[in-house]
Amino acid sequence: MIDLNFKPNRRMNNIHALRKYLHQNPELSGQEFETSKTIATFLQQYQPDELLEGLGNGTGVIAVYEPSEEVKKSIMFRCELDALPIQEVNEFAHQSKFKKISHKCGHDGHMAVMCAFAKKLAENKMQHTKVILLFQPAEENGEGAVAIYNDTRFKTLNPDRVFALHNLPGYDFHDIVVKNHTFTCAVNSIIIKLHGKTAHAGEPENGDNPALAFAEIIKEYDQKNQPDAKKEKFTVLTPIYLTMGTEDYGISAGYGEVHYTFRRALNVEMKALEEELEQIAIASAKKYNLQPEIFWTQRFSANENNPQAVDIVRQAARDSHFNLIERETPFQWGEDFGIFTENFAGAMFGLGSGKKTPNLHNPDYDWPDEITETGAQIFFKISELIDAQ
Ligand SMILES: [Zn+2]
Ligand SMILES: [Zn+2]
Repeated sequence: MIDLNFKPNRRMNNIHALRKYLHQNPELSGQEFETSKTIATFLQQYQPDELLEGLGNGTGVIAVYEPSEEVKKSIMFRCELDALPIQEVNEFAHQSKFKKISHKCGHDGHMAVMCAFAKKLAENKMQHTKVILLFQPAEENGEGAVAIYNDTRFKTLNPDRVFALHNLPGYDFHDIVVKNHTFTCAVNSIIIKLHGKTAHAGEPENGDNPALAFAEIIKEYDQKNQPDAKKEKFTVLTPIYLTMGTEDYGISAGYGEVHYTFRRALNVEMKALEEELEQIAIASAKKYNLQPEIFWTQRFSANENNPQAVDIVRQAARDSHFNLIERETPFQWGEDFGIFTENFAGAMFGLGSGKKTPNLHNPDYDWPDEITETGAQIFFKISELIDAQ
């Protein structure tokens, strides 16, 4: 799909040109083969001490910068490689080359930030801190981070601290947005399939129709909502898909399914909710003589930030004279960096991408290049502060 003749040239030494090239050549989750090659090739000019390729599901890249003296600690920064199945409506020169695939979450920009950061690390070595740059595949479907986490080559790196940023439209350019504890919510999705028995529509009593079970499940799930993010047990349940039977008016339905996605602020509360939702589905199925089949999909752990790690981000923002914003409530979107903050002390934070920039996943969104250097600067400052600790 992507121009295989692409080679880094002098024009590509420019980070903004790289970002625009990535924007023009987006790839979906798990298919970031060319993107990963582009990144690995581009990074070579900044001579990482180690460059690992083919990580996770096959497209992850890691660049390692060793310190000038003995390694006493290690720190990981992460960005994402994948684009979204969204048709780009922008008509600028770097418009996506592909129908219904485009970088609408700014992951092209996050990659550019990491490359600009790599340039700084190549020019200024840390003294005792090993710096690991992770270019992670498949963030949008929640599969990439866990695949990297389970990769033995990643496991041996075992970072002491982990950080990631996400750009945030609706905030001024260069704002640094922080929050202790949950930054993004835990998200999970449930698929409930109910198997009954078809019957003559005139004699539904001779079959097992799933309609009433779905009615009960939907009603009970709705009662679990606690949409006030400032309150405890903040919970959002969203019905996604519902189907049963066929459009045959002589047949009483014998099968159906309902899909929900739901989110909570804390991983431990999420687990409790998952059990409750499963029990509701099983009980309703039993009541109406239906066989339930339950599947889970697209799970994202909450990003539960370590307050000390957030303090380092705060200090880095102050030292760099960026506007620091303390956010009160978690973001309701899922971000699979949560698997890293669940297992390592770390933090995810926001980088303002412009009050008037279209929202993430909107068809007219585009990464503003003016914040690329800001992202690289804050990552570099965080490394310096940790190195000096
Ligand atoms: Zn996204
Ligand atoms: Zn994203």
